[in-house]
Amino acid sequence: MANDDVFFPDNESCPDCGCFIFRPGPRGGLAQNIECVRCKSRFNITRWPHPTERLPIVRAHRIPSEKDGGGEWREDMFPKVVLE
Ligand SMILES: [Zn+2]
Repeated sequence: MANDDVFFPDNESCPDCGCFIFRPGPRGGLAQNIECVRCKSRFNITRWPHPTERLPIVRAHRIPSEKDGGGEWREDMFPKVVLE
């Protein structure tokens, strides 16, 4: 599965459907996996760390959604945060 780079708009809405609400998935280092609650598209986003501010996304790529074999993200596996 190729890591397709995707462009996130400045307002950080879903590149596929424009939704602003994401469900968090596994996190690793500076990267965070997120799933759009509307269209279920999943992305791996990276932003530079900052102690007080949320800096812009520096890189994002598409990862397999649950229906594409990306595995199930159980609600209780990850803390509930939005794009954090
Ligand atoms: Zn979406």
